[in-house]
Amino acid sequence: MSHLTSAHPFSARYGWDEGFAEAFTPYAAQGMSPARIVRVDRGRCDVVVPDGDGVRTASADAAPVATGDPLKIMCTGDWAAVDLERGYVRALLPRRSAFVRSTSSKRSEGQILAANVDQAVIAVSLAAELDLGRVERFLALAWESGAQPLVVLTKADLVPDPGTLSHLVSDAETAAPGVQVLPVSAATGEGVDVLAAALASGTSVLLGQSGAGKSTLANALAGEDVQDVQAIRDSDGKGRHTTTTRDLLPLSWGGVLIDTPGLRGVGLWDAEDGVARTFSEIEALAGDCRFADCGHHSEPGCAVLAAVDAGELPPRRLDSYRKLLRENARLAARTDARLRAEMRRDWKQKQALGRHMMERKGRSVRNP
Ligand code: GDP
Ligand code: ZN
Repeated sequence: MSHLTSAHPFSARYGWDEGFAEAFTPYAAQGMSPARIVRVDRGRCDVVVPDGDGVRTASADAAPVATGDPLKIMCTGDWAAVDLERGYVRALLPRRSAFVRSTSSKRSEGQILAANVDQAVIAVSLAAELDLGRVERFLALAWESGAQPLVVLTKADLVPDPGTLSHLVSDAETAAPGVQVLPVSAATGEGVDVLAAALASGTSVLLGQSGAGKSTLANALAGEDVQDVQAIRDSDGKGRHTTTTRDLLPLSWGGVLIDTPGLRGVGLWDAEDGVARTFSEIEALAGDCRFADCGHHSEPGCAVLAAVDAGELPPRRLDSYRKLLRENARLAARTDARLRAEMRRDWKQKQALGRHMMERKGRSVRNP
């Protein structure tokens, strides 16, 4: 699709680029149209396709491929090759990033929530005490997805003292090394332009707890669009409970936002790499531990514990790191019996090591 220049709205607005065009090449030869999925509802989807100098929407059936792999099911944000004449999705182009969550069922399977997300905005409210553990949890998820995280401290108008606000920003920065932290108020408009500019290219999602101010922020970024969509959803009785539907909304300053109610109760799912990335300074310290498999509990020559003792690493960070690793391992183990057996063996070894150390050193093991 060489005629789709970077100025064409399919590119400039929806994010089509050279890389996707290359993946699409074989389908172009078959007369397919490139498309972006903006909404999915039980095997059918709405897509945006290029149409002359602009774009238009179309409906299509799911690709006729029964894979049984829930991660292969199309979702909002996917790029696809669509047969517009017959009205079906021929193929999904390879994803650059994806948000996955575990389903609430006992059979823990991944469910794709959003695909090809460039920026993940983590919204944390300043209306209550800043919950850094929550920031870290969402960060792990964002890193795991492949998107670039950005932390937004919402309702900044509720913290009128600039000194207090800058303290809160630095607290958030210690929980999010290398990640931009931005105080924002939808009420006063403070910081909204900076956020809009950061999201003006590519695809974004808003993550965060219910009440964090995501909808309000989405409205500020997308104008009336979001409100309208929400109203329609509420009037058809599906409202926010709709889990099979996602929306991809153009933002008034550029870029698109995937509005995903499903991401609101999101947990970790096989996010070990994301956790590592979130706690990059601990991972770096761990490289200097005497034992390669150091658990940073009581092992001799532990560089992580040394950093805590030296006041260089907040103990809260280490606790949070352990908690998320444990939680992640628990979730992962649900799907994989072999891993579960390994974990148990690992755990027994650690216990034995702990006992051994206690006996040798004659002092108590640090509380985990
Ligand atoms: P969501 O559940 O994350 O989508 O949160 P909402 O956008 O629904 O916002 C939750 C509550 O916070 C609502 O009562 C909003 O009016 C309020 N709120 C949102 N943004 C701001 C803000 O910038 N300042 C203040 N003071 N309140 C806000
Ligand atoms: Zn260690």
